[in-house]
Amino acid sequence: MAFYQPRSHHDISLWKGVSDADWENPDWQRRHTITAASPDKARYAVDDISQIITLSGYKREAIENTIVKRLERGQQVLRITPYYASLMDQDPFGLEDRIDPIFLQAVPMPADLLFSRAGIKQAMAEQDRSKGAAYQRYLDRVVLFLTNTAACENYCQHCQRRRSLHAGVPVTKENIDEGIDYIMSNKNIKEAILSGGEPLAVKERLLYAMGQLSQIDHVERLRIGTRMPVTLPMGVTDELLEHIKHAAGNKMTYFVTHTNHMHEVTDTYAAAADRIRNHGFDLLNQLVLLKGVNDDFATFAKTHTEMWRANVNPYYAFICHKERGLAHFITPVPQAKLLLDGCRGMFGGTAIPRLAMNAESGAGKVWLMPKGPSDIDPAEAIKTDLESWDGTIIKDYEHLGRATREEFDEAERVMEAFIGRPDVFKPSLLIEKDGELTGEVTNLDLTPLSFEERARRLGYTEPLITNPAE
Ligand code: SF4
Repeated sequence: MAFYQPRSHHDISLWKGVSDADWENPDWQRRHTITAASPDKARYAVDDISQIITLSGYKREAIENTIVKRLERGQQVLRITPYYASLMDQDPFGLEDRIDPIFLQAVPMPADLLFSRAGIKQAMAEQDRSKGAAYQRYLDRVVLFLTNTAACENYCQHCQRRRSLHAGVPVTKENIDEGIDYIMSNKNIKEAILSGGEPLAVKERLLYAMGQLSQIDHVERLRIGTRMPVTLPMGVTDELLEHIKHAAGNKMTYFVTHTNHMHEVTDTYAAAADRIRNHGFDLLNQLVLLKGVNDDFATFAKTHTEMWRANVNPYYAFICHKERGLAHFITPVPQAKLLLDGCRGMFGGTAIPRLAMNAESGAGKVWLMPKGPSDIDPAEAIKTDLESWDGTIIKDYEHLGRATREEFDEAERVMEAFIGRPDVFKPSLLIEKDGELTGEVTNLDLTPLSFEERARRLGYTEPLITNPAE
């Protein structure tokens, strides 16, 4: 059975004359990536986007305005590979109750400028636990940043490192060497996680770092965190994988990618996953739960079963980080638990991820696995007691952003005008008044789906029997 079929580039006016060979060529894809490096380039980028999807004049202006404002704030805003752009629906605003999920992840929109007080800057606090390019949050594993987000093939609008690792923060060769020296000096460290930015986009650095790390006796495993199988799968070439295998020496090496929606699971993606596995590497996935993208049961469940079918094993589903500018993406914890609980038994456990969040300030992973329906507590949307992996207790943690009623209503008005209709933009925020929480959480829907309804949404067509002998 085929995976999601994106539009053919021959049907997209911007690329209709492009040969199949060029389209499949990662270098052609890179040369034709849609980007706006400075405010004066924003208009041309929006012109290109409007040759891929249907955009009214109002939407074009709103997108351009968002790009310009964010660029002026020093943020990296826009980079979309032609391949990833082709996953967008021709009319991203024509879906019944939501905006196209690839559009939401790839294209800046006025929501990015809303709720400016919600969230915190550099929530990951990665700068505080660093030794050169090495960042250590756990005893036995260390992240080694090989580059910043300037090397990403695609900019993800929900990127948790949009501030901490942006293009203005260089990662130098000296930083990498200092990080490797640190890993060498600490025998607790068994695993190095090669990350960025996009480590596969800086091949020479990646191979250099892997070569160095493969010489360190106490390092047993190398992990490569990459979004390239999702945003530029044709870039995951046999040649690159051969080099990686060689550089890894005798160290067990595996890949973790970042797939968020079943429309990202295409034949091209599955072929990249096959190439990774054919070279002897495992491939896991970390999904980020994003409001409006994958926070409904059918999308969440099918994204995982499709990935699993493509030989990508679900590993984590993360609550979106409370980074400033991302408040509209955060899914409330009880809603996330309900999603996970709904998957139990409906398909094999190897296709079900662990639910977790990274509390800010580098507290590390907190597991949020539901114990059953009785564990779905609406109060957890407001404040949650968290226990981190090392026993750190965080009392009354607020994972959602705050807004006043006036701010929230104004945000709804802005997005209603942008989308062209109400009831599509449904962020969850905590409403505050005079600095105090009122107890209201916007758009919190904790209605459980029946077993039959979940089966229907998963596409079961035969009678729902589990023991034909009875
Ligand atoms: S590929 Fe990763 S680091 Fe780069 S923008 Fe996307 S989420 Fe951020």
